[in-house]
Amino acid sequence: PDASKFENNIVTSPFNDCKLHDMSMVQMLFESANRWPTKIATECGVTGRKYSYEMMRQLIRRFGSALTRMGFQKGEVFAIISPNIPEFPIALYGASGAGMPVSLVNPTYTAEEMARQLSINGATALFGVAPMAETLKEVACLCPTIRRVILLGPPQEGIVSFQEMAQDSGDLFNENLDINAKEDIFLLPHSSGTSGLPKSVMLTHFNMSSNVMQFLEPGGTNHQLATSEYQDTYICLLPFFHTYGITILMNTGFETGAKLVTLPQFEIQSFFKTIDDHKPTALHIVPPLASLLAQYPALKTESFSRLHTVFCGAAPLSVQTTVNLLERLNVPNLSLQEGYGLSETSPGILMSPLGNAKLGSCGSPISRSKAKIIDHEVGDDALAPYQQGELYVAGPQVMKGYYNNPEATKEMISEDGWLRTGDVAYYDEEGHFYIVDRLKELIKVKGFQVAPAELEDILTSHPAVAEAAVIGIPDEQAGELPRAYVVKKAGMDSVSEAEVAAYVNSKVSAHKQIKGGIQFCMAIPKNNMGKILRRELRAQFANAK
Ligand code: AMP
Repeated sequence: PDASKFENNIVTSPFNDCKLHDMSMVQMLFESANRWPTKIATECGVTGRKYSYEMMRQLIRRFGSALTRMGFQKGEVFAIISPNIPEFPIALYGASGAGMPVSLVNPTYTAEEMARQLSINGATALFGVAPMAETLKEVACLCPTIRRVILLGPPQEGIVSFQEMAQDSGDLFNENLDINAKEDIFLLPHSSGTSGLPKSVMLTHFNMSSNVMQFLEPGGTNHQLATSEYQDTYICLLPFFHTYGITILMNTGFETGAKLVTLPQFEIQSFFKTIDDHKPTALHIVPPLASLLAQYPALKTESFSRLHTVFCGAAPLSVQTTVNLLERLNVPNLSLQEGYGLSETSPGILMSPLGNAKLGSCGSPISRSKAKIIDHEVGDDALAPYQQGELYVAGPQVMKGYYNNPEATKEMISEDGWLRTGDVAYYDEEGHFYIVDRLKELIKVKGFQVAPAELEDILTSHPAVAEAAVIGIPDEQAGELPRAYVVKKAGMDSVSEAEVAAYVNSKVSAHKQIKGGIQFCMAIPKNNMGKILRRELRAQFANAK
């Protein structure tokens, strides 16, 4: 590709304009299934359960048809709360083929956390796996809109079995369902955006298909289309409940005829065994996994004999980790590509070039995308190279908005289509971007989102807590950890940090636990609008160290 071009300090993509189209995501997948019917599409890395592209297409038809038979209508929301399994895309595309937007929720959440997310979009059906039956039944009780719970597993009272749906004739599946790709929602992942509680992000079919095409624009990546002799293989450990997993692994994989080897949870032995067994061509990771791989003593060189790319995103990757990992893997011509994006941008927006030339940068805008830097304290003009400010991005992958939340949408996307990322960055003279800080409240623990507002709500529901503020503090292994500042109610002096921590931690999933500590204080610093001054707390913490 040419170098990035900039005019008026707006950095445009160095890549050619990729092809865009208005197909539905199901139509796009079925085109792939036509090209590679007999190739394996998904395989479980633990059990070996697998589906060819043609089998997957048939099951998608049956699953979608069964949903229509049960009375589900176009526009009703379908929720998937499942670990990575080979049936995940069948449920996702089957529901989408029935016209249902799909809401994605982390399967390690507590039932209350799941219910909180689904109450935002009023999901009416739920898919998961049999070991989660009790939790999902509890979610269905907490969310009265849910009419059916579908589980991969044997039939049981009050539950619809995936296996039974897979016996449907498929005749109610409408391949020509009227989908407006630019308006109709394919996916509803969750993100807290720049502030507040998690919201449902509306990603249209067009947003999602564009991001695949942008990512695959020639010159940007090493992906190869499947042939009779060749098939890309990905190890799918990163969760499908996040857009990184859906777009960069699943949808990009299917578009190129790749085999997706799914892993339901992180377990170090099975992760490395799967790598040994399947010899991936691309590894998709997040920074904590990059550190682990760089240090893991028992890596077998032959397992990486087909590896052409390591792709890392979701949180900052240090130059030292990159160098260590490349040295450790020691694969000739291996590209370590860093990607930057947000759930709100489907998620890809910036990507580093092939060839490891710019370590520490997360690259330049992918095809048809543009980026600019603005420092609001100085003004509204886009800034020149090397000047830090808030990163703004635009492109066909920018979300339609937040579900049922026009105010939050308006705060995030300007009228001319620029999305504010809430991240602080600068770019160099070649248009490569470097993320340096975060303005928004968001905390990322091992690449997972933690919304301070959610923890603050739980903290203030404790009878001894008057006020609370949560910030992220740096952590070597997790990237960041949540830390709480708490003002006690009068007369509640006897309550301890450990008691408050135990109260919160009993209500949240593992990565949201307040592992960065709790500090009691007399007051929470706020501006005169009552907004918590998190930067001040972060500075206080840094100074006290
Ligand atoms: P999510 O919506 O969960 O994908 O989170 C998006 C946020 O993750 C971004 O706004 C950044 O703060 C952070 N992020 C994603 N990719 C990177 C990266 N390559 N470097 C630094 N931060 C990143």
